[in-house]
Amino acid sequence: MAILRPSVVSPTRPTVKTEAVYARGMESIVLFGPPGAGKGTQAQRIMDSTGLPQVSTGDMLRAAVSAGTPTGIEAKKYMDAGQLVPDQVIIDLIKDRIKEPDAKKGVMFDGFPRTVPQAEALADITTVSHVISIEVPDERIVDRICGRYTCAVCGAVYHDSFKPTSKDGTCDSCGGNEFKRRADDNAETVMSRLEAYHNQTSPLADWYDSKGIFHVINGDRAINLITNDILDALK
Ligand code: ADP
Ligand code: ADP
Ligand code: ZN
Repeated sequence: MAILRPSVVSPTRPTVKTEAVYARGMESIVLFGPPGAGKGTQAQRIMDSTGLPQVSTGDMLRAAVSAGTPTGIEAKKYMDAGQLVPDQVIIDLIKDRIKEPDAKKGVMFDGFPRTVPQAEALADITTVSHVISIEVPDERIVDRICGRYTCAVCGAVYHDSFKPTSKDGTCDSCGGNEFKRRADDNAETVMSRLEAYHNQTSPLADWYDSKGIFHVINGDRAINLITNDILDALK
């Protein structure tokens, strides 16, 4: 399925990039929306159709925290408090990630960018062809976040009530039997994360809308209906 538009160089941007990480012909997708909107769930479902790897800054940060790297140690205090990690930490992570061979044709960003400076840095790294905004009202978010769990083996995303595994204790995707919950998926931290979303991230909607690449998707519906709409928007 050909879903990506032909490569277009914006007339407002220089054609010669000084950024070493910039790759010609690279076009990426951004999955945008509040915490718990379903970005990760949808990324896993559309990865095959888009042919683009999922790049989740949240997953990268959690890996850094587990590994105890300097980035992880710095990021942890912000993540535990439900605040955004400083822009430069995130931008450095993305610049490194985008150099990996699997990112050559572009990537599917999940949870990045989350601030205007991040979006500006991204514009120097890759062309964004589509921003898919999965919209879910605030009052649904707490239940979504507090019931979330993932497969410890393959990362498939589940929910206690809305998307349980088909067979109790067994991952539908890989058959794994171990699951985990995130430390920051609690009712208290969700409030700070929502506040950060409304204050720092949602202004990006206008920024991308003005570029004509912003696609609003109603995320308060069945998972497969949302997937269909996203694939339509990407056509
Ligand atoms: P995000 O990556 O945006 O934080 P997730 O994909 O992790 O969101 O989804 C958050 C939680 O909500 C998960 O437990 C997931 O199973 C559940 N979920 C995702 N999409 C839906 C949906 N359309 N309806 C109900 N629950 C959903
Ligand atoms: P969710 O979308 O479910 O809130 P993520 O896994 O995307 O969760 O992010 C978890 C935490 O990691 C955020 O609350 C924040 O502290 C940090 N984080 C992730 N991505 C970014 C980003 N692009 N900018 C700043 N902080 C980020
Ligand atoms: Zn699994």
